[in-house]
Parts: sequence; structure tokens; C-alpha cells
Amino acid sequence: MRIGCPKEIKNQEYRVGLTPMAAQEAVHAGHEVLIERGAGTGAGFDDDAYRAAGARIADTADEVFETAELIVKVKEPQPAERKRLREGQVLFTYLHLAPDPDQTRDLLDAGVTAIAYETVTDRAGGLPLLAPMSEVAGRLAPQVGAWTLQKANGGRGVLMGGVPGVGPAQVAVIGGGVVGTHAARIAAGMGAEVTVLDLSLPRLRHLEETFGHVFRTRYASKANVQELVAASDMVIGAVLIPGAAAPKLVSRADLSTMKPGAVLVDVAIDQGGCFETSRPTTHDDPIYDVDGIMHYCVANMPGAVARTSTIALGNATMPFMLAIANKGWRRACQEDPHLLNGLNVHRGRLTLAAAGMALGIET
Ligand code: NAD
Repeated sequence: MRIGCPKEIKNQEYRVGLTPMAAQEAVHAGHEVLIERGAGTGAGFDDDAYRAAGARIADTADEVFETAELIVKVKEPQPAERKRLREGQVLFTYLHLAPDPDQTRDLLDAGVTAIAYETVTDRAGGLPLLAPMSEVAGRLAPQVGAWTLQKANGGRGVLMGGVPGVGPAQVAVIGGGVVGTHAARIAAGMGAEVTVLDLSLPRLRHLEETFGHVFRTRYASKANVQELVAASDMVIGAVLIPGAAAPKLVSRADLSTMKPGAVLVDVAIDQGGCFETSRPTTHDDPIYDVDGIMHYCVANMPGAVARTSTIALGNATMPFMLAIANKGWRRACQEDPHLLNGLNVHRGRLTLAAAGMALGIET
């Protein structure tokens, strides 16, 4: 099969759909791989790395879209890319169709078969192609929060680990899923005193059994959330209610109970944010102040560490990409119900019920 990987064109997107390692695996399996010139540059992979992997470099995105039977990307196709898609082509990338009627319409009109990373499932009921980005965002959260805590950035001027004779920062992580677990581990590793709050007792049990006393756990009742928000130097928002907007767990009034210069890192901002005062920000201008509390609310945090994110995403997508290439999408989906769950669009039909309900389109 001819596999194509164009350069990402969404603003501030430096990741790339295929790593040289994935390209090499595909070439070894007998496929032809075409990468747009410079596609990997933002993630630190030059064209020579792809050539060495056996891929061919295409001069333009048009050449990739015209030739490839399978297109592998990172972000949802942008309007200019959607115009290039052809009937019968298979698209494998993040799509997030439910809130995006224009993209959905264009994919239906193009007649492509689109498999979305974010709806592929695994045996444990998880989302294996979303988890790596939650791991990255979770581990990044204390790092950006620690930077925001510095005085020059408007923060309280508190060092995460303290020093001998001076206590460490107090960190509360609301939501103990993938993001929250990784955030708590890194914050604790930096020497902070960390508490994870979650509504799921099985989840809290699992955290304590796995991590012992590396960090504390508390049930996420309103009273406990308010108490810890008031006591913390940094609060990391990491909740998720699948398919719904994030619940607002910290109100504007709660900010007045916090220490001046304390930091809120709202990782759940891509689902609307879990603090009332959150609004999406960008890597160019990531933080802002509300009532003396610093907010960090970047919606695509993994983009800041494009190389790590690209490799992590590539490790997770590669087996599925190879299955699609080796067997064809139809047989690959017939043999793997988890990949089939990723099928969102096929030849003019929306096949994802949740997106159909959100958009009022029959599935
Ligand atoms: P997850 O499903 O693994 O974990 C979510 C956790 O939140 C669960 O343990 C759940 O029990 C808990 N929860 C739900 N409601 C709660 C409440 N009211 N109080 C306390 N806990 C509650 O999800 P995840 O992969 O960790 O993702 C968390 C959020 O981070 C999502 O909104 C996701 O979209 C977002 N995210 C953002 C970025 C970014 O760049 N900003 C990157 C990756 C993920």
C-alpha cells in the first residue's frame, strides 16, 4: 500500500504523523512511504532520517494526497487538506468530529474512509491513542505550573521542592485518571507535597495501592476540593466526564480563598475547563491573571514537547497503521473490534453514533 504523511498545517502544530521508525517498519512490511518535505522538522526528524528509513520525500502536500492510499496525520484535516482528499482514500488521524460540522460534512462529501485516533479502544476499556497525549500533558502540567509559580511570571515565588529548612509547594490534582496520575507523579518527584482528588473510590484505591505514600488521595467532595484549593500553591485540573463538558469545580468566588499568586493549571481546558475562570490560551501567551491567581490553560499542551509527543503517539498508532496497511482497512477492522470503533466515516456515511447525535446526522 502507498502510505502518505503530509506536513501538519494547523497553527502551532509541530508533531508529525509518521516517525522515521514507523516509516521504516512500513517499508519493511513491503509498503511504499511518502513523506512531505520538512514534515518531521518540528519534531526534530529531518528528511534524511526518513530517506534512511526507506521513505520517499514528496515536494508538496498535493503529491502526498494525490498518490497515497492511506494518509497518516496528527490533527484533523484542515479545510485546504480536506479539498485534497479523494474518494476511497483512508485517513488515519485525530478527528474530533462531534463539535465540528464543517469537517464532518467535508469528509462525508470527499467519500473517504476516516478512522479517528480518539475513538479507537482497547481491551481495558481505555483509549490507547489518546492516552499517550494525556500522559504527556499530565507530566508537563507540574513543569509549566512550577514555571508559572515563579515571581517573574506572576506566581507566588514558591519552589516546588523547597530547600532544607523550607517546606515544599502544596499541589492538589483534581482527577486521578491518566493526566492526574502522571501529573501527581512528576509533582511529587519534584519534591512537592501532592494530594490527588477523585470521585471514583476504585481509582483512589488503585492509586494508593500502586504509589503507596508518594502522594496522598482524598475523595473529591465539594468540601474537600474547596479545602485543598485554599491550601495549595498549585491546583491541576485533570477531570474528564466522557462525552460531556468538564464540570466547573472551582468557582470565581473560590479564588478569593486561595493564596495570592497561587497557580491553576487547567489541563481539562480542551473539554471547556474545570475552573470557572478558565479560558483557552496558546503556547505564545499561555498564562493570565484573575483576581491575583495565575491561570495556565493551553489547549494543546503536548505541542510544547513535539518530539516526545510525536514519538509517544507514533509508538501507539504504529501497530494500527501497519494493520490497516497490511490487511486493508476493511479486514483490519473486521479482525479488530477496537480498530473498528475508530471508524468514523465511510464513503459518505457517518458511522460514529455519538458524533451523529451531536451533529443531527443519521449514522
Ligand atoms: P481520564 O478519564 O483518564 O481521567 C479523568 C478522571 O477524572 C477519572 O478518574 C474520573 O473519575 C475523574 N473525575 C470525573 N469527574 C470528577 C470530579 N467531579 N471530581 C474529581 N474527579 C473527577 O481522563 P484523562 O485522560 O486523564 O484526561 C483528563 C482531561 O485532560 C480531559 O479533559 C482531557 O481531554 C484533557 N487533556 C488535555 C490535554 C491538553 O493539552 N490540554 C491533553 C490531554 C488530555
